[in-house]
Amino acid sequence: MSYLPVLGLLLLFIALLYQGRAFLSWVLPLGIAFIYWRFSEDPESWGTGTAGLFAIYALCVVVFGVPFIRRLVLTRNILPAMATIFPKMSETERVALEAGTVWWDADLFSGRPDFQKLLDFQVTPTSAEERSFLENECEELCRMLDAWQIHLDHDLPQNVWDFIKSKGFMGLIIPTEYGGKGFSAQATSEIIAKVSSRSVSAAVTVMVPNSLGPAELLLHYGTQEQRDHYLPRLADGREIPAFALTEPNAGSDAGAMTSHGIVCKGQWEGEEVLGMRLTWNKRYITLAPVATLLGLAFKLQDPDGLLGGEEDLDITCALIPTDTPGVVHDRQHDPLGVPFFNGPTSGEDVFVPLDFIIGGVERAGHGWRMLMDCLSAGRGVSLPGMSGGGAQGVTRGIGAYASIREQFGIPIGQFEGIQEPLARIGGLTYVINAARTLTAGAVDAGEKPAVISAIVKAYLTENMRIVVNDAMDITGGAGICLGPRNILGQAYHAMPISITVEGANILTRNMIIFGQGAIRCHPYAFEEMSAAWEGDVARFDRALFGHVGSIFSTFTRAAALGASCARLATPPLPGPTARHFQQLSRMSAAFNICSEVAMATLGGSLKFRERLTARLADALSWMYLSSATLKRFVDEGQTERDRAFMEWGCTHAHHEIQRALMELLDNLPSRFLGVSLKVKLFPWWSRVQPPSDRLSQKIAKALLDDGEARRHLTTEIHIPGPEDLGLGRLEAALDHVVAARAPRKKLKEAQRAGALPRNDELDILDEAVTLGILSEIEKNLVAEAAKSRDAAVQVDDFERS
Ligand SMILES: Cc1cc2nc3c(=O)[nH]c(=O)nc-3n(C[C@H](O)[C@H](O)[C@H](O)COP(=O)(O)OP(=O)(O)OC[C@H]3O[C@@H](n4cnc5c(N)ncnc54)[C@H](O)[C@@H]3O)c2cc1C
Repeated sequence: MSYLPVLGLLLLFIALLYQGRAFLSWVLPLGIAFIYWRFSEDPESWGTGTAGLFAIYALCVVVFGVPFIRRLVLTRNILPAMATIFPKMSETERVALEAGTVWWDADLFSGRPDFQKLLDFQVTPTSAEERSFLENECEELCRMLDAWQIHLDHDLPQNVWDFIKSKGFMGLIIPTEYGGKGFSAQATSEIIAKVSSRSVSAAVTVMVPNSLGPAELLLHYGTQEQRDHYLPRLADGREIPAFALTEPNAGSDAGAMTSHGIVCKGQWEGEEVLGMRLTWNKRYITLAPVATLLGLAFKLQDPDGLLGGEEDLDITCALIPTDTPGVVHDRQHDPLGVPFFNGPTSGEDVFVPLDFIIGGVERAGHGWRMLMDCLSAGRGVSLPGMSGGGAQGVTRGIGAYASIREQFGIPIGQFEGIQEPLARIGGLTYVINAARTLTAGAVDAGEKPAVISAIVKAYLTENMRIVVNDAMDITGGAGICLGPRNILGQAYHAMPISITVEGANILTRNMIIFGQGAIRCHPYAFEEMSAAWEGDVARFDRALFGHVGSIFSTFTRAAALGASCARLATPPLPGPTARHFQQLSRMSAAFNICSEVAMATLGGSLKFRERLTARLADALSWMYLSSATLKRFVDEGQTERDRAFMEWGCTHAHHEIQRALMELLDNLPSRFLGVSLKVKLFPWWSRVQPPSDRLSQKIAKALLDDGEARRHLTTEIHIPGPEDLGLGRLEAALDHVVAARAPRKKLKEAQRAGALPRNDELDILDEAVTLGILSEIEKNLVAEAAKSRDAAVQVDDFERS
């Protein structure tokens, strides 16, 4: 019978698909039942060919389907070969990979994200106390900040330093029992966002004590005595902390540090104690020139066995008061002219007691794990906060500027050429803040989402750079000439700093996101690798064959979703988000297959094919940004006001994912797999297009003329009063310009009809009133608008030096 082999193969296919889950319970009985049925119906047709096929089928069923036999025949033999294929890792890399937790990123990686889980996740809102701090202390700090004066003085004024310390800005993350604010990650991120919209220097000064550094390390790992002593002092600013990891020859590869400590006996406060002789040379350390407490990472050695263990104890973190004899921190760097304290620090044979180690002597050698664990959460809060606040500030200012500034007789925001970058600014600002809020929410829910933190660190700062560059182009010379009127220069200068710190973006994109994602988020890879390294056949067998089954089912799904333009995916909600959820589902399945193929064909060498892993990182990161955008839209009530922003964000994200995966397939060493997968996953008829001109125009228009959407997009920043020469002056001018729109239109119509001469509008105002074209009030509105518009487009000039 001709259909018999086909059916046999189909059963084998299903067996592989479900292998490890439902195989023995239903596929095997089904196969036996089928054989019995065929045999009893027509025993004569039981030809040798068919019998042969069934014999092969039965063999496959037994070998693949009975775990005991499979382990004996297959897995035991595969394991040693696989153990050599998996990438080799240093201990430092392994600790970094194992740090933190896995969250929504695992769903995105799986190829089958459970969107209901994302929608059900509650982002805890800021508390009443946190809101009060944002609306009072934080607003007051913003009012005290004069970014230009800070630039000239190269420091914050003393009253600002005092305010920051006395109001608890340095202890936002320190619990109240230690005198800190005990604020959530969400509140900390919003505070940094607000302050950074006013002054980058102040934001960095507030950010550093609340990011990876002495306070956070003490909270997680400090001894009770260390916490009781230092945390209250850090909370009220008596101690100014800095954290020193980077060295001249250990930047991105921080684990290669040469700073070291030798365990020895020495004199401390008149007594002989067991301690360490520390030698270090660190650079780029924020707040180091003014720090009173230095968090120091170094490699600890115990050559005389005074601790009774190994000689090389590895990376260790200690807290060193900067008044300890031998601590040098008196020089400073100039980070692109952005005025905040940053500088080198060094010391040679500086003796300190062993209980200066964070967590005491039992934490000696645990420093790298402590740092990686803290970074897993911290990277998701501070720099995303800065990017979110910075993007909101730029959006607010640029919307006003493009409405006020006129060339060729109309506001520049009306030109399609300007609307293109304007739409990118608005769309990306919505996306950046969606991801910022969701990630801080995850941290507040107890996650330390290592991969997601790396994603938001790299992609929010990178998108913020796009926002700033676009805004620069829109403002032209007004963005370039520095001075109190310039609303962009400060952010423009500071952008490379955000890009470089806490894991430089190229490294994070090319190596960390997919490298860590593939191992931590992949449903089977980490299990396979650790089982292979440990030689555990049973665990390896379960993971490997579960993996094979998952590849078959996800490939079928990805191809079906590709062919159907994602319409076969079930969205969690009807309405405007449905198509975007479907596309995201499809992208997740395609991503899963592309990463499987890259890992299977390149094995351990994928680690060195950074161009490929960077594209996989792009795809994973944009999936996260798209899901955050959808969640924000749903959580904020799916309003018509925000719909274009959500649509732009998701379409842009899905187009980016598709670009990244298609480029990956184009560059896959196996050309056969690359080409065939491209045809299956992205057939020509179902490719996602970038946001349309019409959609972009909608967003651009929403940013002009002080619409509700513009206000909503920028609610978290400080809006200065009209006396402020930067954003305040633009906001005030915008009010006048918007109020004068209708009377100016009347003037233009009258000019077109020949009722008024085509002179400058200020010269024809009186005539317009005499002819009854404008009322006296309307005349004043036009005159006021012209005056404030003229003031708003001025730039600063200075006496020649
Ligand atoms: C203003 C400022 C403040 C800072 N504050 C602190 C602080 O408070 N404490 C502290 O300890 N450090 C601090 N740093 C240091 C910062 O974390 C490092 O600058 C950063 O880790 C990069 O190191 P590097 O500058 O030596 O660059 P390098 O490590 O030399 O990197 C140069 C380039 O190579 C890329 N790269 C490196 N390795 C790879 C790879 N495997 N694959 C692909 N690309 C790679 C990087 O992404 C980067 O683009 C600060 C730096 C600055 C500029």
